[in-house]
Amino acid sequence: MVLVYSDNEKLMKELLAKARELADGLGKKVTAVVVGSGEAADELIRYGADRVIVAEGGPGAFKAEEYADILTGAIEETGSRIVLIGSTKSGKELASRLGGKLGAGCMIDCNRVFLDSGELTVERGVYSGNAVSVERFNSDIKIATVPGKAFDPLEKDDGRSGEVERKTYQIGEYASVVARVQEMVSQGVNVEDAEIIVSAGRGLKNREDLKMIEELAEAIKGYTLGCSRPIAADLKWLPEDNWIGLSGHKVKPKLYIACGISGQIQHIAGMRDSSIIVAINKDADAPIFKSADYGIVGDIYKVVPRLIEELKNQ
Ligand SMILES: Cc1cc2nc3c(=O)[nH]c(=O)nc-3n(C[C@H](O)[C@H](O)[C@H](O)COP(=O)(O)OP(=O)(O)OC[C@H]3O[C@@H](n4cnc5c(N)ncnc54)[C@H](O)[C@@H]3O)c2cc1C
Repeated sequence: MVLVYSDNEKLMKELLAKARELADGLGKKVTAVVVGSGEAADELIRYGADRVIVAEGGPGAFKAEEYADILTGAIEETGSRIVLIGSTKSGKELASRLGGKLGAGCMIDCNRVFLDSGELTVERGVYSGNAVSVERFNSDIKIATVPGKAFDPLEKDDGRSGEVERKTYQIGEYASVVARVQEMVSQGVNVEDAEIIVSAGRGLKNREDLKMIEELAEAIKGYTLGCSRPIAADLKWLPEDNWIGLSGHKVKPKLYIACGISGQIQHIAGMRDSSIIVAINKDADAPIFKSADYGIVGDIYKVVPRLIEELKNQ
């Protein structure tokens, strides 16, 4: 049995596609675990699950120890040997705790998960994405976390059928409790789902110059604004929602335009999977050009207004 869990619905569907492929390869079934009301349980069957366990009466707020109890119950009950978990912040915490609890191998942030001679094998980017580590498990239960957009979800199949079961699992008493959860005030920017991102870097001289980047972004319909770390973390010209890179958001848009970004590996780690990368930088030797499909060597203060003009004329 292959078991799948994510707190992110979209990621759950992507994991289901991979779980389906693995389960078919091994002649096994796929179980998805949902904690809470389980409104979307039927939907998960249509995206590849054979069975959905809705864990009811569980904790309200996420607490890794308690969620690990729920997943342990589901793994033991289903006899699952492969567990795929979405690589969200809480997903990674959960996976490692689960690994410790079950004595299971746990690989975090796997970009590829596949069977090699029937053995579960994963690939992970290491050294900020400069190398790929190919890894196998020595344990009976194998846990892998997978980031968003590593796999495409299956086409929704309204004809698929499966079981939805409501269960209550034993949850232990732990040394800490969640006092309250306060919703983050977000500016509504979701770079991770954006199809087009125009990104600003330290090549900008002043905060006001962001308007120029915004104008370019607006000229390309369906845009989202991104930025390098100094713009969000040091200068605070944009919120962290827009920050892209190793310690920011990982993005995979169809088009990524980097304006005045040097292309240090920590930035590249967050946007290298973009379909088309365009870089504008006045330094012909800037590392960003090694990752770019199209490069414009020039001053953003001259190139960007020209691009805006051209786009507006189209
Ligand atoms: C642990 C760790 C995690 C990190 N995580 C991240 C992360 O998640 N995201 C991230 O972005 N960084 C991250 N960094 C920082 C990263 O190493 C770089 O310092 C950062 O990406 C640089 O941002 P930048 O390219 O905007 O600025 P700079 O490196 O200062 O580059 C500015 C670029 O603009 C060009 N430029 C200047 N003026 C103009 C002009 N008028 N026209 C055209 N081009 C111009 C310059 O040639 C230069 O290439 C991390 C670093 C560490 C150590």
